[in-house]
Order: sequence, then C-alpha cells, then structure tokens
Amino acid sequence: MEYEISQKAQDLINRVQDFINKEVAHNETLYHEQSKDADGTWVVPPIMEEMKVKARAAGLWNMFLPESENGAGLTNLEYAHLAEVMGAHGISSEVFNCSAPDTGNMEVLYDFGTEEQKEEWLKPLLEGSIRSCFAMTEPGVASSDATNIASSAVLDGDEYVINGEKWWTSGAGDPRCKFIIFMCVTNPDNHRHQRQSQILVPMDAEGVEVIRPMHVFGYDDAPHGHAHMKFTNVRVPKEQYDSW
Ligand SMILES: Cc1cc2nc3c(=O)[nH]c(=O)nc-3n(C[C@H](O)[C@H](O)[C@H](O)COP(=O)(O)OP(=O)(O)OC[C@H]3O[C@@H](n4cnc5c(N)ncnc54)[C@H](O)[C@@H]3O)c2cc1C
Repeated sequence: MEYEISQKAQDLINRVQDFINKEVAHNETLYHEQSKDADGTWVVPPIMEEMKVKARAAGLWNMFLPESENGAGLTNLEYAHLAEVMGAHGISSEVFNCSAPDTGNMEVLYDFGTEEQKEEWLKPLLEGSIRSCFAMTEPGVASSDATNIASSAVLDGDEYVINGEKWWTSGAGDPRCKFIIFMCVTNPDNHRHQRQSQILVPMDAEGVEVIRPMHVFGYDDAPHGHAHMKFTNVRVPKEQYDSW
C-alpha cells in the first residue's frame, strides 16, 4: 500500500521528535525515581507535570483527536506515525496528553457523552488535569471475547447497581484517576452481542475497591498501574451515568 504523509503531519512528527530529544529522553530516570515517595507510596512525578506544561505551550497537545478544534486534525494513519515516535520512550505519550486509556476514553466522551458528562469528565481530561481508566477484562472469564464479560448493572429505580470483578484496569492506581468506563451486562436476555453497555463510574463511588496492583514482569508500573478491582453494589445515578 502506498501513501504519503501530509506536510502538516510530517512537521508535527519532526517537532515531537525534537521535543522528546530535548525535553523528555534525559528525564526518564528522574521520572522513575520520583514515581514513589520514601515510603514506597505511588506519587505523580513532578517532572511529568513540568514536561506537560512545556509540551502544551509548544502546541504539542491532544494530537490524537482527529477533530481540529481540540486536537491536531490528523487522520488515524498520520497519527500512527506520531504514536510510533512517542512510543519509543515509555513516558512520552503522557507528556503530550496522548496516552492510553485516556485517549480512547476522551474519544468516546467526545462522540457519545452528554453535555454534563463532557463538562465533568472530558474537559479536565483534555486539560490533562485528571486521568481515567477502562475496565473490561475480568479474572473469571476469557475476556478477549467481550461477549463473555459477566459483570452486571441492574436498573433499580433511578440508579444502576453495579457488581463485578475486573483486573488489568490500567490507570486505576493513579492518584489522579477520577472515573472508570465500566463494561458490563445490562440486557442479559438479549442476543449475546447485544447484552453489554459501558457506564461511567466515579472512582470514589461507594463499593469501588482497588484490591491490588498487578505486576508485569515484576513491575507494578507506578504511578499508573494495572489494577485488580472489585465492584460491590456500586450505585450510579441513571440520569447522569446512563449506559450508551
Ligand atoms: C499491561 C496490560 C494492560 C492492560 N490494560 C487493560 C485495561 O486497561 N483494561 C482492560 O479491560 N483490560 C486490560 N488488559 C487486559 C487485556 O485486554 C486482556 O488480557 C486481553 O484482552 C486478553 O484477555 P484475557 O487475559 O482474559 O485472556 P483470554 O481471553 O483468557 O485469552 C487467553 C488466550 O486464549 C485465547 N483464546 C481466548 N478465547 C479463545 C477461544 N474461544 N478460542 C481460541 N482461543 C481463545 C486467546 O487468544 C489468548 O491467547 C491489560 C493487559 C495487560 C497485560
């Protein structure tokens, strides 16, 4: 397949690469040193917030959004090249507010969120002042097939009541993480491909529990983390957090 990258995309790629060389690469060790305090508690490395301020001032911010008012207006193909450059340094994507799972969550909110949800969750995500997570995978089922997902949300009056167990929820350990996009069964009697919904759940809702950080090759990936979580009778208001 032949394709050409637009001049606009190539300019961004060059600027991002240049920024990483000058402002990010030499800070990786410092970032990891700062990611836990003297007691071993996860903290947001101050150097990350410093680099974010500089990247935003340089206009290198939210480049994942295909829409041009808040993003860079790139096609997915063009953005793939940027993602490759950012991905070469483990900490780079967050510097440009382009890291998972926030990017996907922002796009979902951008396309499907209500005005209230956009104000409460999308705006601070676009600002880089909060973070979020996405909870699909479960310990009890083969989760690569999403039709197996077993967590449930049952409508009770004006609220959904959520129960289930999730693991590998990336970002749930981050102290800035404010909400979860939670995948669960809302219509158990439907055809198996039409049973699921995604519901916004605030991290501080009663019944949301982070059990432990998972380890990948011995690392807990602080301060972001991949969490094992439990949801016990978590209630979210229907009108504010309706399933999409
Ligand atoms: C670092 C990391 C971060 C992650 N972050 C997130 C996150 O933020 N949110 C989230 O929800 N999840 C996350 N995950 C989980 C990831 O999405 C799942 O591990 C993945 O989808 C596979 O699901 P599973 O672990 O249940 O494996 P399984 O579905 O049990 O699959 C195990 C193996 O069996 C195979 N298999 C499964 N079903 C069948 C079948 N019917 N026939 C034949 N073969 C089959 C699969 O191909 C695979 O090789 C993360 C995982 C890691 C390692």
